[in-house]
Amino acid sequence: MTGAMRRPLVMANWKINMDPDQVQPYLQQVIPEVNKDTGADVAIAAQDLYLTQMVKETAGSRLAIAAENAHWTDDGAYTGETSPKALALVGVSYVLVGHFERRKLFNETDERVNLKTKAALKNGLKPIVDLDEDLSAYAKEDKKTIVLKQLKIALEGITAEEMANVAIAYEPTWAIGSGEAASAEQAEKSAEFIRQSLVNLYDQKVADQTRILYGGSVTTENAADFLSQEDIDGILVGKAALKPESFLKLIDIAQETGSASN
Ligand code: PEP
Repeated sequence: MTGAMRRPLVMANWKINMDPDQVQPYLQQVIPEVNKDTGADVAIAAQDLYLTQMVKETAGSRLAIAAENAHWTDDGAYTGETSPKALALVGVSYVLVGHFERRKLFNETDERVNLKTKAALKNGLKPIVDLDEDLSAYAKEDKKTIVLKQLKIALEGITAEEMANVAIAYEPTWAIGSGEAASAEQAEKSAEFIRQSLVNLYDQKVADQTRILYGGSVTTENAADFLSQEDIDGILVGKAALKPESFLKLIDIAQETGSASN
């Protein structure tokens, strides 16, 4: 299967940005474009507080809503956490798991990423499993070793069938929010390595069907370079997705790049 056969996924990550009164106008601006469906899937990850409203606003549209994190337990005494079961019940579609900021600032371990990935799948949410490369770890370990370790542990116990609902995001830590993206060639090399690792962990079919996203200072200027790479099937975008005009441009680019390679 070539990259052209995997449908691109454009995902915004609002983090804890966006005031309550900005949510509806943003969505109303983006929905008509997404509904044209010219070949890319589009989703927005937002803080929990907005998710129910966002699901309602986007009902019947092609714009999907994502959580930025979820606990690995459905119910119980976990004050301040979000239940994956509740997310699924209110209509959230995707969940980011192991985002670099979660790993770095909230001590998210590979083992917890694995538990959260399994819990998301059990509840019918589609996890986007984030793999990152930390520059400080470079000194000690080969970067491929770091990414492979994260990938292996995150996917432990996840079946080939379940992998149909999993996407991987490759995000070099130094590129996130820094304004310094990886080069498209660097990103493609890592995506290719991740895909080959999926062949080794599962089989060619799973590797061929799994979407691999690049994230880290994607802009309207560099998005086409990433999206035209063979093994990069989407983009995870923070800062450049905060303005609807810029997110719309990124969607257009993904649609054009997708249809050009079909
Ligand atoms: C991110 O938060 O995953 C991200 C890639 O952010 P930015 O696009 O701002 O680098």
